[in-house]
Amino acid sequence: MFEFAENKSATGYAEYIYYDKNGQVHNIGKTAFIVAPKRQSGNALVGGNVYLVDQRQLKSYKSRDGKVGYEWDIYLENRERYYLKGDAFAAVIGAMCSLGYGYYHGSGFSDKAGRSVGSSSHYNGINGDFRYLGLNGCHKGGPVLVSQVSRFDWDANVKFVNALYLFGYKSFGSQVMKRKGVPDRELPHVTFTNSDHDNHLHLQGYQPNIQDI
Ligand SMILES: [Zn+2]
Repeated sequence: MFEFAENKSATGYAEYIYYDKNGQVHNIGKTAFIVAPKRQSGNALVGGNVYLVDQRQLKSYKSRDGKVGYEWDIYLENRERYYLKGDAFAAVIGAMCSLGYGYYHGSGFSDKAGRSVGSSSHYNGINGDFRYLGLNGCHKGGPVLVSQVSRFDWDANVKFVNALYLFGYKSFGSQVMKRKGVPDRELPHVTFTNSDHDNHLHLQGYQPNIQDI
């Protein structure tokens, strides 16, 4: 479970607390909200605001025993896609923390104004992209392709997708995995595949289960 305290009107910050399965409480941290206008596909304004957080402010967390947490780099040349909707950020880091401790790399979500840049559906800080997880952490050094037999970590990617699903992302874009001697397969909850997604996993279908407390 993930607790995400939102105090927009009074103080304008988000606070993230993760409760792990052993009852440990992890104070991930606090960060200021950035107010951006709400958009639709094509980045047109639709009225109202979204409350974004800058991922770079909370890009890593490690529990004292080293067993829970994440290090998450966002990088895309000539793009600044560091911004996520406050609760979507909780969903992503909740999924990461539920898998223990790990390294993640992605090309990001939205820009500071909540726009999709370099991809059409990444508006309002909800949809985003990640490198696939590689065997022995090799995704830290560069993209891992679904087609790369010696680099793509099927089990780790299945776990990551299932964890993201549990925390609110219900649909993914990916590529079909073809291997000699075994039937073609796709990661769970994948709703579209194409060659553009051989080098990254696209997160969408965000429908979180949020309780106001
Ligand atoms: Zn994408």
